[in-house]
Amino acid sequence: MSKYPDSLERLIQELKKLPGIGRVSAERLAFHLLSQSDERISGLSQALLEVKEKIRLCEICFNYAEEEHCKICKDTARDRNILCVVSQPHEVLKLEKTSEFFGLYHVLGGLISPVNDISPSDLHIEELLFRLQNSEIKEVILALDPKVEGEATSMYLARQIRPLGTKTTQLAHGVPVGRDLEFADEITLGKALRGRVSI
Ligand SMILES: [Zn+2]
Repeated sequence: MSKYPDSLERLIQELKKLPGIGRVSAERLAFHLLSQSDERISGLSQALLEVKEKIRLCEICFNYAEEEHCKICKDTARDRNILCVVSQPHEVLKLEKTSEFFGLYHVLGGLISPVNDISPSDLHIEELLFRLQNSEIKEVILALDPKVEGEATSMYLARQIRPLGTKTTQLAHGVPVGRDLEFADEITLGKALRGRVSI
């Protein structure tokens, strides 16, 4: 049985479900939250509820959005001739931070993985091919993890895109092999973007 009151133990258990949070960190966070004013706690819970309620996926690129289309798709200053393919929405932000890319994005929603039963039809690949056939996009940059699943997905996409005649490139191997794109710092990622190679 827990040594804490039930409601406090419940909060600790919820916090423990967050990535990278173990029992000790969860306890520390729970005590911190408990010491905060009612206003701060209600602000935090409001923000949590609001983000869940308002955030949806952009109907064009599947990035996070609060409306039908995300801010990047709506931005008329973006270069509509170039498109960068990523696996998850949070990777868009990572690439935006490099200040090296001013084109559009397409979020696949995962990577092809026979082990995890994820096939091409589970990802937004059909939508990507449709976009390429119905827009002025001249180059597609595949910015996927340089690990087995990312490589396999890149190869699959390159094969699908080739008949459409769109130039296809991938990030230079500035992103260390075996590391998540997520953990690559902005400078490394910027270099990898600048040094991209055709596939
Ligand atoms: Zn979008």
